[in-house]
Amino acid sequence: MTAQPGPVPPDRPASGIPVRVRPEIAALPPYKQGRQAGAEAFKLSSNENPFEPLPGVVEAVAAASAFNRYPDATAGRLRARLAERFGVTDEGVHVGAGSVSILAQLVQATCSPGDEVIFAWRSFEAYPWLAVLAGAKPVMVPLAEGARHDLDAMADAVTDRTRAIIVCTPNNPTGPIVTQAEFDAFVERVPGDVLVILDEAYAEFVTDATAVNGLREPGGPPRANVVVLRTFSKAFGLAGLRVGYAVGHPRVLDAARSTSIPLSVTGQAETAALASLDAESELLGRVAVVAERRDRLAAGLRDIGWAVPEAQGNFVWLPTAGDTVEVAQAFDEAGLIVRAFAGDGIRISVGEEEAVDKVLRIAASVVSDLPEAHRARG
Ligand code: PMP
Repeated sequence: MTAQPGPVPPDRPASGIPVRVRPEIAALPPYKQGRQAGAEAFKLSSNENPFEPLPGVVEAVAAASAFNRYPDATAGRLRARLAERFGVTDEGVHVGAGSVSILAQLVQATCSPGDEVIFAWRSFEAYPWLAVLAGAKPVMVPLAEGARHDLDAMADAVTDRTRAIIVCTPNNPTGPIVTQAEFDAFVERVPGDVLVILDEAYAEFVTDATAVNGLREPGGPPRANVVVLRTFSKAFGLAGLRVGYAVGHPRVLDAARSTSIPLSVTGQAETAALASLDAESELLGRVAVVAERRDRLAAGLRDIGWAVPEAQGNFVWLPTAGDTVEVAQAFDEAGLIVRAFAGDGIRISVGEEEAVDKVLRIAASVVSDLPEAHRARG
């Protein structure tokens, strides 16, 4: 017998959700993924690695076929490998199903309802959402000149309700890094009991020697309140397998582990990460190719007058402001799927070599077709 839904009480909110949901969750727009590309189009909307997986990595994953069994809950082999590499104990590493899941765990572990999470804006789209999920208040500090973090303003925004601060470098979606000197001065100003999450999802693409590197010294981040986040999704090309990691104080990571959904990291993901570390020099060779394409793309865009900020990730940012939707449409019609942030700008991932020239061609045509749009910022 099929259960019939009961009558909906007249006081049900207008969200269209038939059950009682936390109001702040009901108010969130439903998640929208970057559009999947058709056969002809280039998908430049999710900062993915354009290179296909290495055959050795594919073979290792195929061999990890005992998936009638649950995986190792701690991803112990990968954890030990990363611990050795960064000169920390195994407890100083935490592996998650993508670094975004560790972000969620850290926010969950630190924030009670009404607490505050500070981050720059615009930055990674997940940040406000993760704060809201935890019942916390997102405190969004506008980017400074050059679409860079305004770390002074972020330190000024700390209150006695602040529990976590996220620093994204290079900043997704705008591109600039935070320098080591800026970060060091910033953490000096942050109370030692406030968690600082250094989100280095794009660290491997950075070519600016002044950039912060939270893992440059063996022994992990020098301060106990700093956790560094890295991922295998971007430089290592494992976005579809979901594996990222954090390095930090073991007790802070224990708190994250306490909030995690057990067994989320699959054996295949762990195996692929280990095989990718084995093939690291080859993979970093590909990263260098992407970084070179990025520099060429950014330089080409600047040559035709676009005010592209420093680009240190695997993407570039077009500050299209009020013309974002029209400009994104022009890319879309040309078979280039980009990520548009209406009213603000467009993030274009650095993808296949053929896509570089195509992006430059369309960006140039926008200059002639939408002269007002472009002149405002050229
Ligand atoms: N941080 C930043 C800044 C990102 O851009 C992303 C992915 N877009 C992530 C974290 C999460 O990556 P993943 O969960 O695939 O490791």
